[in-house]
Amino acid sequence: MAVKITDICISCDACLDECPVEAIVDNDENPTGEDVYYVYADKCVECVGHNDAPACADACPTEGCIQWDEVGSGSIEKEDRGEPNTPVVED
Ligand code: SF4
Ligand code: SF4
Repeated sequence: MAVKITDICISCDACLDECPVEAIVDNDENPTGEDVYYVYADKCVECVGHNDAPACADACPTEGCIQWDEVGSGSIEKEDRGEPNTPVVED
């Protein structure tokens, strides 16, 4: 399980240093070649064991930018995670 960064990202870098497992890379390092920031689903642990809530989404200033990815996209799933494609942090 994992979170994902959507294309409304403003490339502010606030999330990069917050990730405890270094799962986030910027657009230059995106393995898909797309010009957006990227979360490695196989690295993201939804902050389980690190933070009460996903630290990247807490740090992100862009409302709705970081969303839950599909169930099964990574290896660790937060128990109270939201539905896929919904914002991790709702304002
Ligand atoms: S949810 Fe946590 S582990 Fe996953 S990318 Fe965000 S900060 Fe990293
Ligand atoms: S904190 Fe949000 S807006 Fe800033 S780079 Fe990360 S995903 Fe993009």
